[in-house]
Amino acid sequence: MTPTPTEPATRRGEAVGWADGVRTDVAGRIEELVEGLASDADPGAVYVGWFAAAEVAGCPARFRAGGVDGWDFPGWSPQSAAASVGRSALARCVDRSSELPDPLGTVKAWMRDVRSSPTSYVAEWVTHLSQTGDRIGLAATAALAARWIAGFVRVVGWPFPEKLALVVDDPDSPSARRGPPPWRPRLSTRRVPVSVASKPDAIAGTVAPSGRFDVMFHRPNSRDDLALAERAAFEATAASLAIGIVPAHVVLSAADTGERLRFPVDDPLLTRGADQVVEVIRHRLRAAEPLAPGTTEFDDATPGPACRYCPTADDCGPGQQWLARPRRHNGLPVVSLG
Ligand code: SF4
Repeated sequence: MTPTPTEPATRRGEAVGWADGVRTDVAGRIEELVEGLASDADPGAVYVGWFAAAEVAGCPARFRAGGVDGWDFPGWSPQSAAASVGRSALARCVDRSSELPDPLGTVKAWMRDVRSSPTSYVAEWVTHLSQTGDRIGLAATAALAARWIAGFVRVVGWPFPEKLALVVDDPDSPSARRGPPPWRPRLSTRRVPVSVASKPDAIAGTVAPSGRFDVMFHRPNSRDDLALAERAAFEATAASLAIGIVPAHVVLSAADTGERLRFPVDDPLLTRGADQVVEVIRHRLRAAEPLAPGTTEFDDATPGPACRYCPTADDCGPGQQWLARPRRHNGLPVVSLG
């Protein structure tokens, strides 16, 4: 990676040049991978987001086996829509009032608002639930989104700090920001379209060449992710690639513990994040190629609790061994009553 400062960027223009260096480095590594791809392999479009990076870090064999169904957006559900609905509802509430929001009332008011003219994909999905009479789906979505709002307000504080903008896909919300479009490296071959996405929940500060802004990610549960430092590394790099400016900090918060951790973005963090991005692409390309002689799909399998619900566990030797460990049944501890 090109020489860069190791402290959060503070001088005008520095964070832009720094991000350019990260882009050049990552694009060069992707180019090398694509050049080494078998001529008859067709991996399709490769999308790199945090969930893909976490899957690869958890068990690369399972990630590769996921195939198109596993790599695609699985569609909205109450769980996957909770943060998007929560942010959208909270942003509209902030636009209209300075009162401390009532989480469930805020979500219900937003749902009523958007049903007549949805302005985002998630609003269209909520409208669809409503039109098809899926009251259980609506209630579950409202409850989870309200929980997201309550947790976010709890860790960020109320009123929000100055210059904090929720990231919302809603052009009708004047105080919110739209998320950055994914970064698409220009590769010399157009064989594999790659995009790297950054999806912060909020941005604190002004996105400017000085890099004096933080990207914020909020999770309802502290155990939702891998190690926090790994998440911070991925998000620092993905945001730098997508925005084109290196943020000063990545802020991670968790509703259940009330934690709010601020990771300064420095070169080691960006390097770790770049490695995560490149690993996702490497495994996607590998999944499109025939197995190399003398190897199996499960050479790098990483057994763990996820083996219990892994769709490919029946064929995976390391996974079967993990599930059959002594004093375990299907990976779960056996309680002895004797
Ligand atoms: S069974 Fe376990 S080790 Fe094997 S691929 Fe699935 S998650 Fe990985």
